[in-house]
Amino acid sequence: MDLATSGSDIEKVIATHEEILARLQELARKVEADYKDRDLLLIGVLKGAVMTMADFSRALQRHVEMDWMAVSSYGSGTKSSGVVRILKDLDRDITGREVLIIEDIVDTGLTLSWLKSNLESRGAKSVEILTMLRKPEAAKVEVEVKYVGFDIPIEFVVGYGLDFNEKYRNLDFIGVLAKHMYA
Ligand code: 5GP
Repeated sequence: MDLATSGSDIEKVIATHEEILARLQELARKVEADYKDRDLLLIGVLKGAVMTMADFSRALQRHVEMDWMAVSSYGSGTKSSGVVRILKDLDRDITGREVLIIEDIVDTGLTLSWLKSNLESRGAKSVEILTMLRKPEAAKVEVEVKYVGFDIPIEFVVGYGLDFNEKYRNLDFIGVLAKHMYA
């Protein structure tokens, strides 16, 4: 769905479809250079990272493997607590693998910090992170994110995989959800 159709639900556009694809091309060039002559396993975090995984992996001019995890953060409402539950685990063993986690957004960083150490503890050779969005001012824990699409202010965004009550994931752009939609 595009901006014209989503109308007044969206207060402000953060990144258009074209801007997202252009940024993913830039990140793909960096990843290709950094992982030259190394194999690469992309691990997407369901469901939010589906669009980023689809477009980023297709921007890469090299072979990769893909796997998926689904996790849920315990906590009240929209607040992340850092206690994470695995809803769907990886299909394969990752011992010795070079892993790049593909995420939609880093907010407090609690989920990713947990996920990164979880994957490291399984014996991965390396674990790095690529995220489409990051809210630097919301960080509660330091988690090193090697590849960032866009840094954004603390606002609730939807689209391009990110939802509000399971809707808006299919927007082809990223925007700030209008307050009247949830206030
Ligand atoms: P963290 O553990 O970094 O605080 O939480 C990350 C998770 O919170 C994301 O994977 C996402 O599901 C959710 N989240 C954080 N900020 C936003 C936002 O602005 N919009 C949406 N739709 N989800 C968000």
